Amino acid sequence: MVKQTIQIFARVKPTKKPTADYSVDFEEQGSSLEFVVPRDLADGFINNKRENYKFRFQKVFDQRASQEEIFETIAKPVADNVLAGYNGTIFAYGQTGSGKTFTITGGAEHYNDRGIIPRTLSYLYHHFSKDSSMIYTTQISYLEIYNEAGYDLLNPQHEASRLEDLPRVKIMEDSDQNIHLKNLSLQQSANEEEALDLLFLGDTNRMISETPMNEASTRSHCIFTIHLCSKEPGSATVRCSKLHLVDLAGSERVGKTGVGGQILTEAKYINLSLHYLEQVIMALSEKNRSHIPYRNSMMTSVLRDSLGGNCMTTMIATVSVERKNIAESMSTCRFAQRVALIKNDPLLNEELDPALLIVRLKKEIQSLKEELALVTGEQRSDKLTQEEIQQLEKQVNVYLEDPDCEVTLDLGPDMRKIRFCFSLLKVKVQERSCSQNGVSNGSSPSLMGMSDGEERKSHTELQKLRDTLTHRDNEISILVNMLKREKMKVQDVTSQLAQLHNQNPSTYSSSRSPTALQAEESEKCDTIDYTHTHHLITRKRVPELSVGQQAAFEVFLRDHEDRLTVEDNRAVLQQRFVEAKALGEQVNQIRIRVNELKTQLKIRRKQMAAQVLTGNQTESESESVEERILNQIEEEKKNYKITSGYLKGLRTEIEHLQLLREKAKVKLQRDFENWWTQEGARLQGHSAENTGSSLSHVSPLSCMFTRNNNPKVDDTDSQERRQREQTSFSSRDQRVFYSLALN
Ligand code: ADP
Ligand code: MG
Repeated sequence: MVKQTIQIFARVKPTKKPTADYSVDFEEQGSSLEFVVPRDLADGFINNKRENYKFRFQKVFDQRASQEEIFETIAKPVADNVLAGYNGTIFAYGQTGSGKTFTITGGAEHYNDRGIIPRTLSYLYHHFSKDSSMIYTTQISYLEIYNEAGYDLLNPQHEASRLEDLPRVKIMEDSDQNIHLKNLSLQQSANEEEALDLLFLGDTNRMISETPMNEASTRSHCIFTIHLCSKEPGSATVRCSKLHLVDLAGSERVGKTGVGGQILTEAKYINLSLHYLEQVIMALSEKNRSHIPYRNSMMTSVLRDSLGGNCMTTMIATVSVERKNIAESMSTCRFAQRVALIKNDPLLNEELDPALLIVRLKKEIQSLKEELALVTGEQRSDKLTQEEIQQLEKQVNVYLEDPDCEVTLDLGPDMRKIRFCFSLLKVKVQERSCSQNGVSNGSSPSLMGMSDGEERKSHTELQKLRDTLTHRDNEISILVNMLKREKMKVQDVTSQLAQLHNQNPSTYSSSRSPTALQAEESEKCDTIDYTHTHHLITRKRVPELSVGQQAAFEVFLRDHEDRLTVEDNRAVLQQRFVEAKALGEQVNQIRIRVNELKTQLKIRRKQMAAQVLTGNQTESESESVEERILNQIEEEKKNYKITSGYLKGLRTEIEHLQLLREKAKVKLQRDFENWWTQEGARLQGHSAENTGSSLSHVSPLSCMFTRNNNPKVDDTDSQERRQREQTSFSSRDQRVFYSLALN
C-alpha cells in the first residue's frame, strides 16, 4: 500500500435547540465545517476580527448521522484493510461530552446506538464465517492509560482491586524498536459473543474504578485492540494485523478565554499526554524533522505505529456546536487539520510461521538423507560406529607414517568421517608439538643432524602448520557455536509454540461447511442459552448494604434518571425473548416438515418403483410427483435459512441488550454508593455546624428521604428507628436484595 495521510472526519453532536453558529458544506471532495463566531466573543482580543472559520474534512457528519453511517464510512474501510493484513487505527478526539465514547463504543441505551467497536466485531466475525479459504484467529486486549500509568481492563483482578493496586502495564522495546506491552493480557475470542463480552467487561471495569474525585473516563485514554492473524490452510505464511480503536481523554484546555489563535496556543491541556500527542503530531507534520518525541508519554509510545508508521489511521473529531463549546470545537478542528498532514506507511504484515517452517525443514532434511542413502547405498546415523572409529584411526596412522608426501587420506563423501579425522589429526599434532618442545630444550635429536638452513626451514613449516591449525580450530569452534545457537533458537520456538498451543488450543476456524453451521444454529435455537455472558459482569463486587441502605436504594432507584431506560430495555428484551422463542419454534417446525417430506419422498420412490415394475404407472408421472416434493423441500430449506438468519440476528441483539442491562445495573449501584457517601458527609458537616455535636444518631437516610419527600418515611421518623437503621448494617441477604431490587 502506498503512503497515505491520516484520514480526518468530523462528527457534530446533536444539540438540544437549533443553532445557527455553524454550517456544513458538502463539496466535491470531502466536506467542510464552518463556525460562525458571534461578534461579542470575537471582540476584545482579536484585532483583525474574523467571524467565520472553516475547516475541511474527508467528511463531516452532521447531527443526525446514524451510528450505522459512521461505521460504513469510517470503520468499514479500515476493517477491510485489517482483514487484508494491514494495521489500522481509529481514534476519537474532542472535548469531554462531545461524543467520543458514543462514537467508539456506543450509547448504553439502545441497540441501534452500538458504536464502532461492536459493529466492527460483528463485521469481522461475519466475514470469518463467510470466508472458508482462510483460517482466522483473533485476540483482544483492552488498555486504559490514566495519569501515565497503563492498566489492563481485562485483568481478572480488576473488579476486586483498586486501580492503584493493579499491576501496571509496562512498555518494553526490543532491538528492532518494536513496542511490547508487559502485563497486558491478550484474550482469545472465538466468536462475536465472546469478543462483545470482553468489551463489556472492560467497560464495566473502567466504570467501577471511576469515582467523582477521579473522573477516569474523561481523563483516561482507552485502547481496544483486535489482534487478527490469518493464513491459508497448509501455507507457512501468516498475516498478523492489529486494529486499535481508541477513545482519547477529553481534550479541553484550561485557558478557555476565546477563539483567537494565539491564546489557544498558549493554553494548556488538562491532560499532559494529549499535550505530548500534539507535540508528536507537530513534529510529524514538520518537514525534515528527524526526531519524533514518541517516548514522552505512554500513549504516544503505544500508538507509535499509528502516528506516522505502519498503519492506516483515521481520526474522528467530535465537536459540540453549542455556543459555549465553540472555542473548544475550533481547537479540536485545528488539531485535526494538523493530523491530516501526517503521512503513514502501511505495510503488509506477512511473515513465515516458525512452526510450519520447522516442519518443512525437517521434511527437507529427511528427504535429503534419503537421497544421500540412495547415492551412497548405505543408511547413516548421526554418529560413527565403534568399528568405523577404529577403522579411521588405523587409516590416519597409516597416512601419517607413510613417508610419501603425495599420499592421500581417502574418506569418501562423509562429513562425519572428515570431521573425526581432523580432530584426530589435531590431537596428534598437539601431542607431537608437546613432545618436540620438551626435547628441543635439551636439543632435539631429530633436528641435531640438520644444517642451520634446514632447521630454520622446518621451523617455518612447522609454524605455518600451527597457524593453519589454529585457523581451522577457530573456524570449527565458530561453526560449533553457530550450530548451538541455531539449535537453541529452534528449541525456543518449539517450546513457545507448545506453550501457545497449550494456552489457546481453540483457534477460530471458519472452514466449517455452511450446512454444518446451519445445523449447529438450529440446535442452538432449541435451547438458547442467553445467560452465559452474565457471569462476567454479575460477579462484580456487590457492596455491603444495611437494611436502611436497602430502603434508601429502593427510593433512589425510583427517582434515578436511568430507571426509564432500564425499564424500556427490559420491555424490549422481553419482547425479543418472545420473538426468539417463536422463531425457534418456527425453525423446529420447518425441520420437522423437511423430515416429513423426506420420508414421503422415500415412500413415494419405493411405491413408484413397485408400480413401474407392475406396469400400473408410467415413469413420467412418478417423476412429476417427486419433483413436487423436491420443490417443497427446497422451499422449506430456503425458509429455514431465512428464519435461522433472523434468529441469529436476534440472538446478537439479545446478548447486547442483556449486557447493556448489566452495565446499567453496575452504574446504578455505583451512583447510589457515591450519592450515599456524599449525602452522609454533607449531613454530618451540616449538623456539626448547627449543633456543634457529633451526629451519631442521624442516619444519612433521613437526608435522602427529605430530598425525596417521601411521606412514608416521615411516619417512621423516630429516633429509635433511625438508630436501628444505623446499627443494623449487616451483610445479611444483601446480595439477594440487590438482585431483587434491580431485576
Ligand atoms: P465523551 O466520551 O466525548 O466525553 P460521550 O460519548 O460520553 O462523550 O457523550 C456524552 C453524552 O452525549 C452521552 O450521554 C451520549 O450518549 C450523548 N451523545 C454523544 N454523541 C451523541 C450522538 N451523536 N447522538 C446521541 N447522543 C450522543
Ligand atoms: Mg468518554
